[in-house]
Amino acid sequence: MITASPAARITPDAPAADWRQLWREAVTDAGELLDLLGLQHLAGQLPPADAGFQLRVPRGFVARMRHGDPRDPLLLQVLPQLVELDEVPGFVTDAVGDMAAREARGVLHKYHGRALLIASGSCAINCRYCFRRHFPYGEEMAAAGQWKQALEHLRQDPSISELILSGGDPLALATTKLEELGRGLAELPQVIRLRIHSRLPVVLPERIDAAFTGWLGALPLQKVVVLHANHANELDASVDAACARLRATGATVLNQSVLLRGVNDDADALAELSERLFAAGVLPYYLHQLDRVQGAAHFEVDDHRALVLVEALRTHLPGYLVPRLVREVGGDASKRPL
Ligand code: SF4
Repeated sequence: MITASPAARITPDAPAADWRQLWREAVTDAGELLDLLGLQHLAGQLPPADAGFQLRVPRGFVARMRHGDPRDPLLLQVLPQLVELDEVPGFVTDAVGDMAAREARGVLHKYHGRALLIASGSCAINCRYCFRRHFPYGEEMAAAGQWKQALEHLRQDPSISELILSGGDPLALATTKLEELGRGLAELPQVIRLRIHSRLPVVLPERIDAAFTGWLGALPLQKVVVLHANHANELDASVDAACARLRATGATVLNQSVLLRGVNDDADALAELSERLFAAGVLPYYLHQLDRVQGAAHFEVDDHRALVLVEALRTHLPGYLVPRLVREVGGDASKRPL
């Protein structure tokens, strides 16, 4: 087992703003979002407000959008579109076979040696292409009851050495809730690594506060934090600082992106994202082909074009800045490289 390094106790430049307050102040009304961006004339093109997946976007993320640009790559990721209501063959509610991989409440087991916990059903931002936009979070929350079922399940499976916290966004949980999990993991010697999948360091970097980094840094496990950013414009100085605080805990920080039509299906945009991530101390890890979830068909990029884009990256960037192009296929033993 790996012990915490001295760096684990360092939390440089912890933010003053309370992330919970910023979370509550998120924009949840599409009309208000359009107003903020000077795009009121698009209000007539919005789907009904009760058409399922609600808009949610932190104000700090809105501030990174271009004013007056309806094609802004950050706006397109969050603005509800009428086209989401179209039924498209092949686009389903459970696009990656989550329910078939369920082993206990909030526990998914897809790949050898790793178990994934649906830690929280909440996200600071609602991404229109989200592969879990129809997930039954109400019934599937691993954090319920002090993580009891999840920890009991892990106890019975000595093959699981890596625990992945996913969601929703696991960092939506209070740090005290994460501390409960940490105490439970101390009784599971086979778990040597904790991986956290979170979009919060990008969309609400204030979440990476002193309490959280103190907990993560002191955790006697190997730590990996996988961010989710799709476009270089998502990263600003506040995200750089959050990434620095994460790295100071001793965590390896990676990024996964989704290839999205109109957002980042452009070799220059993808190259800029890789460069920008590296400047923040983050390595590009995966570029996912879109999971075919109902309501997201308009974001799909065909495989041929995806391969052309990644080949262009390969000829322009060092290998460590080229993310692996993959697709998740339900029932496969690993992500499928393209
Ligand atoms: S942050 Fe992740 S889980 Fe949450 S809506 Fe976006 S893609 Fe889905």
